[in-house]
Amino acid sequence: MILPKFEFHEPTSVAEACDLLARHRGKARPLAGGTDLLVNMKKKVMSPGHLVWLGRIPELSRLERSNGTLWVGAGVTVSDIAASEAVAKAVSALGQGARALGTPLIRNLATIGGNIGSARPAADLPLSLMVYGAELVLAGTSGERRMPIAEFFKGPGLTTAREDELITAIAVEVPRGYSGAGYLNLGIRKSQDCNIVNVASFLELDEKAERIRTARIALGSVGPTPLRSLKAEKLLVGAKPDERLFEQAAQAATHDCTPILDFRGSAEYRRAMVDVLTRRTLAMAMAEARSRT
Ligand SMILES: Cc1cc2nc3c(=O)[nH]c(=O)nc-3n(C[C@H](O)[C@H](O)[C@H](O)COP(=O)(O)OP(=O)(O)OC[C@H]3O[C@@H](n4cnc5c(N)ncnc54)[C@H](O)[C@@H]3O)c2cc1C
Repeated sequence: MILPKFEFHEPTSVAEACDLLARHRGKARPLAGGTDLLVNMKKKVMSPGHLVWLGRIPELSRLERSNGTLWVGAGVTVSDIAASEAVAKAVSALGQGARALGTPLIRNLATIGGNIGSARPAADLPLSLMVYGAELVLAGTSGERRMPIAEFFKGPGLTTAREDELITAIAVEVPRGYSGAGYLNLGIRKSQDCNIVNVASFLELDEKAERIRTARIALGSVGPTPLRSLKAEKLLVGAKPDERLFEQAAQAATHDCTPILDFRGSAEYRRAMVDVLTRRTLAMAMAEARSRT
C-alpha cells in the first residue's frame, strides 16, 4: 500500500504547529507516532494534504509530577508511560493500559496524544484517564484551554478539537486517600488486535475505609465513544464494598453500553464481558485502595 501525496511540516514549537494547522485548515493533520494516521492514509480512509509532525517540539515530551498533578506531554510514548515509576505510583491503571497496548514496536512509536487524538472507541489509554478525571490541555491559534477528556470524544474518529488545535498535555490530579484503580482489556489475541471490550474502574473510600465515597467506571469498545457507566457508579457510591455489590454494579454496567456485533464478537458476548471486566477491575481498584489503609 502506498501513501497518498502530502506536504510534510516540522514545526519546533506548539505555536508554529498551530499556525500551520490554521494555515492549511481542513487539509492538515497533526502527526505523532503515525501508527494510526499513516495506516489510515495507506488504506485511503483519510488523505490530508499536509502533515504537521510533532516530534521536534520538546515541550510535548514532559512527564512529571508537580504540586499534586501528573503532567503527561502529548508526545510521550506509550512505552515511556508503561515504564514510568511516576505513573505506576500515581495512576497505576494508566500504566496498565499502556502495557496492554499493541506490541513493543507499536508502543515505542505510539504517543498518548495520538491514542487520544485517534478517538477510537477501543483505544487503551482514554478509559483510565477518564476514571482518574484527567483533563486535556489544548492549544490553538487563539490560546490554550482545558477540558475533561470525556468531552473530547464525539464519535469514532471524531473529536471536539478545532482544526487549528492540538493536545499539548494531559493533566491528572493524583488521587489521594484510600483510593485505587484497575484497567483490563480483552481481544481475540493478546496483542496486535483491536479490543472486544476494555474497562477501567476507580474507587475512593471514606476516611474510615468503610464505604465508597467516589466511583468511576469507563467502558470501551461498546459504544461510539468511551463511556462512563453512571448506573453502576450510582449503585456503588455510599455502599460498603463487597463481592455482591461489585456483581450488582457489573450487571448495571451492562445496561449502560450499546455494543455492536462484528466479526470479533456478538453484542451479547460484549455485554457479558463488560460484566466480567467491570467486576475484575473493581476488585483491582479495591485491592489498591485497601493497600493504602
Ligand atoms: C499493529 C497495530 C496495533 C495497534 N494496537 C493498538 C492497541 O492495542 N491499542 C490501542 O489503543 N491502539 C492500537 N493501535 C493504534 C495506534 O497505535 C494507537 O492509537 C497509538 O496510540 C496512536 O498514536 P500515534 O502517536 O501513533 O498517533 P498518530 O497515528 O500519529 O495519530 C493518530 C491520530 O491522532 C491525531 N493526533 C496525534 N497527535 C495529536 C495531538 N497531540 N493532538 C491532537 N491530535 C493528535 C492525528 O492527527 C491522528 O488523527 C495499533 C496500531 C497498529 C498499527
